[in-house]
Amino acid sequence: MNTIPPVALKQSRGIERLIEGVATSDGAGVKLTRVLTGKLQQRLDPFLMLDAFGSDDPDDYIAGFPDHPHRGFETVTYMLSGRMRHRDSAGHEGLLENGGVQWMTAGRGVIHSEIPEQEDGVMEGFQLWLNLPSQRKMAEPWYRDFPAGDIPEYVTPQGVTVRVIAGSSNGVAGAVTREFTEPVYLDIHVPAGTEFSTVLPDSHNAFIYVYRGAVTVGDAQVASRRMGILGNTPGADGVTIKALEDARLILVAGKPLREPIVQYGPFVMNTQQEIHQALHDYNNGLFA
Ligand code: MN
Repeated sequence: MNTIPPVALKQSRGIERLIEGVATSDGAGVKLTRVLTGKLQQRLDPFLMLDAFGSDDPDDYIAGFPDHPHRGFETVTYMLSGRMRHRDSAGHEGLLENGGVQWMTAGRGVIHSEIPEQEDGVMEGFQLWLNLPSQRKMAEPWYRDFPAGDIPEYVTPQGVTVRVIAGSSNGVAGAVTREFTEPVYLDIHVPAGTEFSTVLPDSHNAFIYVYRGAVTVGDAQVASRRMGILGNTPGADGVTIKALEDARLILVAGKPLREPIVQYGPFVMNTQQEIHQALHDYNNGLFA
């Protein structure tokens, strides 16, 4: 693994707001925490949703997400622990395992299932929804599975390890890059007493979600299972994260689309008319 010293920033962004998330269930009864809810879609544009799932009780996850449609955005599933098989209406199939990522562009429409393939043990991970710009909402569907070994990773001299799922960090390019929204998605392990910095444009919306331990950003502490929304401080050139104790977190950032967001369940379009069209197309079997 490459050793790369992190950038020295002029000014770090701070935490604008802490978010606890809402316990809910989705699919066929999968228990999860919805961290990024509909209320935050404007603030965190281009991100539409973040679900955190984590349980060692199979009853909380075993039924998975049977056949369901999507249109108008991308889903990014990051599996920290566990195995999930996905199948879609175009005949594609894949297995997502420990440390792997599935990136799916629903575009004009897919119907797929996401079903755990384990009967015991811990299932832990995230699903992030990333919006598509209006001119790409009806693009051809696309997906790719990235096994853990295909996710670029680096370590800093202090021992911070960073997995670069999307975008780039300290000169390391991630598994996926996207024009329009320019997403950055990092999984960061910050050992106790160390710190980490990465560059982010101040106009890009960004948040961290801590899933182990606790960190500080500026004066604010972000505890385990909390999201910290990073302020868009003019002139701040990135974020510095310090760990009080061994901490693991994801950092997500992207360029806002500043387009109308109209969501109806698994369809996210720009207008109500486009939602009616999505329902019509789905009900008439026009999804691939
Ligand atoms: Mn899905």
